Amino acid sequence: MQKHKSIDLHTHSTFSDGTYTPEEIVREAVSKNLSAVALTDHDCVYGLEQFQSAGKKYGIETINGIELASYYSAPFIEGKVEIHIVGLFIDRQNKELLKRTEEILAQRVERNKKMVKRLTELGFPMTYNELRSIAGRDSCSRTHYALLMVQKGYVKDKKEAFSKYISTGMPGFVPRVLPTPDECICLIKNAGGVPVLAHPTLYRLSYDKTELMAADLRKKGMEAAEVMYSTYSPEQEAQMTAIAESTGLARSGGSDFHGTNKTGIFLGTGKGNLSIPEEFLYELKSRCRD
Ligand code: AMP
Ligand code: MN
Ligand code: MN
Ligand code: MN
Repeated sequence: MQKHKSIDLHTHSTFSDGTYTPEEIVREAVSKNLSAVALTDHDCVYGLEQFQSAGKKYGIETINGIELASYYSAPFIEGKVEIHIVGLFIDRQNKELLKRTEEILAQRVERNKKMVKRLTELGFPMTYNELRSIAGRDSCSRTHYALLMVQKGYVKDKKEAFSKYISTGMPGFVPRVLPTPDECICLIKNAGGVPVLAHPTLYRLSYDKTELMAADLRKKGMEAAEVMYSTYSPEQEAQMTAIAESTGLARSGGSDFHGTNKTGIFLGTGKGNLSIPEEFLYELKSRCRD
């Protein structure tokens, strides 16, 4: 009998805030016996060329992806909530996507310079260049701040950096300028991709509000939602599956692997028992425009 194969449709490489190169992600996926893997770096398509050639070299299906952040607001939500939208099957050379992600990166650099200043004022001296050298590029995220704060001995671990200083609303946090969900959905679709609502349980909304948001985003062109994810409980997986069904979204899933930048989360298997069925891929492919 043929063994059931699984897939992973949400991972990060050294081109954003992961610690594996795109080729190392491919090799890890092969060693885990996955039949397909997607690379979904934050706001960035630059790792995809290396990812595709590694896929060919090692004989595994590699899916071009991206993860965009956005602010969602609606009458049933207080203020706004940062949501993430994964784009799968995108054309990495799409001009509009390249131009917009470059602008998003420039806005990230502006934000990072402000956050360096804010943290320095809070008594944790640092420079933008130090942050940049931790990340190895301009695409620095809060993961890199946490690493720098540990390296400088300001906090004992990354967890302390987030919980005391750089989580949303904490004194060292500076919000990013982000596109709307409509814009992210359009960008992904215009680049031939399928937009997927990432990890909905992380937005701290009730079941009813998550369903309302999913239905609203479906109307705006969202095609799928992550119904399997490393940190979901069995109840959350069942709830997200029910929400996808009731709102007409296809099912997707991924580990959100970041290498050693997210300890305890493994490629393909998440915290150990994640197994995303290949069938999800067929559903998702049927949502691609032509
Ligand atoms: P940024 O895009 O710069 O706002 O940084 C967000 C990144 O920081 C996410 O992609 C996560 O990888 C990481 N992150 C956010 N919140 C936490 C947290 N509480 N603990 C650990 N990592 C986090
Ligand atoms: Mn990340
Ligand atoms: Mn995310
Ligand atoms: Mn992610």
